[in-house]
Amino acid sequence: MSATPPLYGGIEAGGTKWVCAVADAQGRLLATGVIPTTTPQATIAGAVRFFQEHRTLTAIGVGSFGPVDLRTGSPTYGHITATPKPGWAHTDVVSPLRSALQVPVGLDTDVNAAALGEWRRGAGRGLETLAYMTVGTGIGVGAVVNGRLMHGLLHPEFGHVRIPHDRSRDAFAGSCPFHGDCLEGLASGEAMRRRWGQRAEDLDDPAVWELEAEYLAHAVMNLTYTLSPERIVIGGGVAKHAGLMARLRARAFDLAAGYPATSALTDPAAMDEYVVSPSLGDHSGIAGAIELGMRRLASPDQ
Ligand code: ZN
Repeated sequence: MSATPPLYGGIEAGGTKWVCAVADAQGRLLATGVIPTTTPQATIAGAVRFFQEHRTLTAIGVGSFGPVDLRTGSPTYGHITATPKPGWAHTDVVSPLRSALQVPVGLDTDVNAAALGEWRRGAGRGLETLAYMTVGTGIGVGAVVNGRLMHGLLHPEFGHVRIPHDRSRDAFAGSCPFHGDCLEGLASGEAMRRRWGQRAEDLDDPAVWELEAEYLAHAVMNLTYTLSPERIVIGGGVAKHAGLMARLRARAFDLAAGYPATSALTDPAAMDEYVVSPSLGDHSGIAGAIELGMRRLASPDQ
């Protein structure tokens, strides 16, 4: 009997769709499928059917929308917790997949999975510490710190940090239901839609994007000063707007004011290498989910 090569599964479990993929040990995608996010039962069953076609699957990883309980040993480990998404609060994601597929299941947040994907296979290869910020409907940050995904108390909720809000320039009160004008409340796609009355992708006034760059530059500097990452990757739909990355790099450079005296903050060309777009494009999350499965297999007790 010839040995069959191991295959790994990944799920990018989002609020509107679950992207499922199977990859080989080098992370090359062999098959992908998309399942609309409906009820937890139907969505998880759809993922199970997708993976049951791949008999040599050895582990899967899930990068999930959240918040999710990642505390190993917790009675609700692997559950999506208090999400406002109807029907999904307190849903156990890990156990149904594990019992149906009989493989180890790794789990992390969607944004931590994207951070891991970029660190392992994309813009963060070879670095010790990397931050990944997604700027889409919401804002989130995942971080690899000294080669490990950062968890801590829960997991980073960087979208809710406070940043300066000059109300004479921007009178919008902010869209965060908890804080109003936190970073997410001022700079997410949802905040842009509510402030300007149009979706971010339809906005082309330079003043709109100057303001967006101002807020994201503060976020970049807060990340720089707290985590000291070797690189910051910025993904998500809003960040795809042409010219935004250049504006926010220039503003972050000004805000840094030369401190600390590291090349990224004193040489504009180095800043271009410090704050970058995802090199995996829209595949950072699924690449990271597959890596979560590989890691779970290697360290089942983690
Ligand atoms: Zn907030």
